[in-house]
Amino acid sequence: MSQAGIIDGKAYAAKLREDVTAEVARLKAEHGLTPGLAVVLVGEDPASQVYVRSKGEQTLAAGMHSETHRLPAETTQAELLSLVERLNDDPAIHGVLVQFPVPDHMSQNTIVAAISPDKDVDGLTVTNAGRLASGLPALTACTPAGCMLLLKDVVGDLRGKRAVVIGRSNLMGKPMAQLLLAADCTVTIAHSRTQDLPAVCREADILVAAVGRPQMVKGDWIKPGAVVIDVGVNRIPKDDGKTRLVGDVDFEEAKAVASAITPVPGGVGPMTIAMLLANTVTAAKRLNGIAD
Ligand code: NAP
Repeated sequence: MSQAGIIDGKAYAAKLREDVTAEVARLKAEHGLTPGLAVVLVGEDPASQVYVRSKGEQTLAAGMHSETHRLPAETTQAELLSLVERLNDDPAIHGVLVQFPVPDHMSQNTIVAAISPDKDVDGLTVTNAGRLASGLPALTACTPAGCMLLLKDVVGDLRGKRAVVIGRSNLMGKPMAQLLLAADCTVTIAHSRTQDLPAVCREADILVAAVGRPQMVKGDWIKPGAVVIDVGVNRIPKDDGKTRLVGDVDFEEAKAVASAITPVPGGVGPMTIAMLLANTVTAAKRLNGIAD
């Protein structure tokens, strides 16, 4: 049996970062504009600390302005909202990202609603979700946008393909489905109440799994020759007592059936921060009236 091509997300992300870096240099030279990203972290969540550090480093490496605001866990929501407002008004900042999860005494919806849609580089505001759903230019959630870049390159012409997205979160499943729909795929969104999920998945030329359940999607759920995008990031125990990362797809089984598949780690994950940089550049251009 032939084996699937492994989609090298690290290589795609490196290429995207190169393109962003070149565009930043052009914006500086031709327009005197340095795109700026502000990331806000509340509390000490260890995984969030790693993500935030990485975002800051990659922003600087692309030649952009980077600010990281670290606030203690006991920060009040009013204090956080006033920082977001200040960043909304700061002309040196074109992207504002609050790292989630925030502490329990804060409302994620209230915080998202406070971010200026023009600087909402995570694509989470109702305005950007609505613009995406209406086919208008939007800032689109980074991970689905990164998945689309991979799919466009691997599949080529997406028109008329049957796509199944497992998961319907605002961050991942819904924008992913909207992007596939905008690319003229025939899209099904599956979720925890979907009946006979394996049969639904077997319809898919393109299968995107964004669930958060380790190795849930088995080889016999996949149509032979399908392209599989595994968004899941799950930690499972190893024999030596340590843990390892796996996706939502049983990679070993799936790669014997699919024509191409993203590994975990090294597939979708690296695309997310690269897309965040790209979104910040897009936001900077739009805020300054420079054509996309
Ligand atoms: P989420 O908000 O928890 O949403 C999970 C979705 O999966 C929900 O829509 C849920 O359905 C559905 N689901 C749960 N159990 C299911 C089942 N047994 N069968 C079918 N559907 C099921 O998670 P998320 O934020 O979208 O993230 C999903 C995964 O992607 C996680 O592993 C996350 O870590 C990963 N992720 C990775 C990146 C990255 O690589 N950069 C970025 C974002 C997310 P209901 O709506 O019915 O509950």
